[in-house]
Amino acid sequence: WLNGQFISESMAKVPILTHSLQYGSGIFEGIRAYETPKGPAIFRLRDHMKRFIDSAKIYRMNLGFTLEELENGVKEVVKINNLKSCYIRPFAFYDDDHVGVGTTGKKVSTFIAAIPFGKYFSEADKGLRCKVSSWHRIDSTILPIQAKASGNYLNSVIAMHDAHESGYDEAILTDRNGYVAEGPGENIMLVKNGAIITPGMESSILLGITRFSILKMARDMGFEVVERLIHREELYTADEIFFVGTAAEVTPVTNVDGIDIGSGKVGEITSKIRSAYFDIVQGKNPAYESWLTYLN
Ligand code: PMP
Repeated sequence: WLNGQFISESMAKVPILTHSLQYGSGIFEGIRAYETPKGPAIFRLRDHMKRFIDSAKIYRMNLGFTLEELENGVKEVVKINNLKSCYIRPFAFYDDDHVGVGTTGKKVSTFIAAIPFGKYFSEADKGLRCKVSSWHRIDSTILPIQAKASGNYLNSVIAMHDAHESGYDEAILTDRNGYVAEGPGENIMLVKNGAIITPGMESSILLGITRFSILKMARDMGFEVVERLIHREELYTADEIFFVGTAAEVTPVTNVDGIDIGSGKVGEITSKIRSAYFDIVQGKNPAYESWLTYLN
């Protein structure tokens, strides 16, 4: 789907001087659809497309499409490609091939692409080994972090390099004050004495849609849920840690900076939350049907 038209991937081309390619000025979403007994269902479509529109608003990009038109675009892309479980990428960019940095009056184009998708982390079942990055998370005095903009992800890219080069699976970023923020593309949750603890908005995190879903679900399951500042050493002494995000789903973290978390194995509460999450996204829990958008 490109500006309202369906075209094949090979026809979707941009000039090499495209503004958003040079300056990271694109805004985007990452959405998943899962196979369910009633056909493919898109998880929290409306919330994702509202965030997409908000990201555009922050950067003064005029998308020229309504929320409903964009939602229909997403549904149609999944349908037309006959996809079942997939990852969907709505993306808006300055469709301008000049070298100027300014964006005033520049044309905006929007596409929606979808690809078959499985696990984001190959180690998702056994747990990740993470490194607290020496790069801090960007904050809203530097860039609007609630806007899901391409440029923000250079912060993620450099933190991931740092972790990967040191032999770890993933990075954990702290905010400018050293408090735990999030992963490069996922939110983080700790389990301590049976409670689920996660950083709040003041820790320079993207307020992820999966994060909200898991917090709601965990409260419904009877867990105590706490949103607060988290000190770095609390990572080491947590009973369990897991990442949450559209791509990451619920992924256990079993080691941070070489220190085993709890037993160093995937935790019991993490496993419970993970399987409850998969039940919901796969349409097996009627109490959360309102989070799913079916294609028909
Ligand atoms: N933090 C960052 C930096 C992310 O890129 C993502 C993925 N969008 C998340 C958290 C998780 O957000 P969501 O659950 O909405 O996918």
